[in-house]
Amino acid sequence: MDKQYHIALSAKMIDHAQYAIVPGDPGRVADIAQAIDPQACELAFHREYRSFLAYLHDTPILVCSTGIGGPAVAIAMEELAQIGVRYFLRAGTTGSIQEHIRVGDFIITKAAVRLDGASRHYAPIEYPAVASLRLSASLYQAMDVLGIENYHVGITASSDTFYPGQERYDSYTHYVPRALQGSLKEWRQLNVLNYEMESATLFTLANTFGLHAACFCQVIANRINSEAVDQRAYRDSSDLRNNIIRRTLENEFIRQGWL
Ligand code: URA
Repeated sequence: MDKQYHIALSAKMIDHAQYAIVPGDPGRVADIAQAIDPQACELAFHREYRSFLAYLHDTPILVCSTGIGGPAVAIAMEELAQIGVRYFLRAGTTGSIQEHIRVGDFIITKAAVRLDGASRHYAPIEYPAVASLRLSASLYQAMDVLGIENYHVGITASSDTFYPGQERYDSYTHYVPRALQGSLKEWRQLNVLNYEMESATLFTLANTFGLHAACFCQVIANRINSEAVDQRAYRDSSDLRNNIIRRTLENEFIRQGWL
């Protein structure tokens, strides 16, 4: 089969992998892949889509970045699904909007508020953006087995924009349109845990395709105190994140009867 246009991958190149780890940032792909498998190899790097193939217990695992935001995620999912990927695990970063959720904590998204535009091209707004129960169970069991206590499970506001959609005023105009003023407070009051930019599209597409997706993010900003991202938290997040990914995959392999 020909290579898919944006991701520059074919089913053969990914050795028919069914599992994909999908961070947003192409800069994280090598680190994640080599933590799964020190022999992992780069397959392609076209636009925001960088990919490595790793093997865990002889099973191929694709690590492929999605870029930022819904439109970029939708392209990645369309093309990855066409070459046989069936399970998508997003490992991302996020801003917390709850006081008790600190920088460095993890958030597992069980469902996303659809503040994106891309998912509306796939399903009407009433359609829920929910995570795969099974893949999410593998994820939180990984947290428990690894003794990670600072994780939270809940609803994420998944926005197309980093600035007005997440009610940030440290933008070029310092202006947030009226419809979004007060939105952070409202989401917090409704027990939404955090903001990020990909899970609404990821979950909506996975469900409409009949596939499986889960999402966990590490907190790099706490919006109660500041609009800024903690750059050190962004750089330091790798070891624990990689252990969580590896253990989640192993939990999945046990469920599949492959381990
Ligand atoms: N990603 C987001 O979308 N928002 C944040 O505040 C941090 C990471």
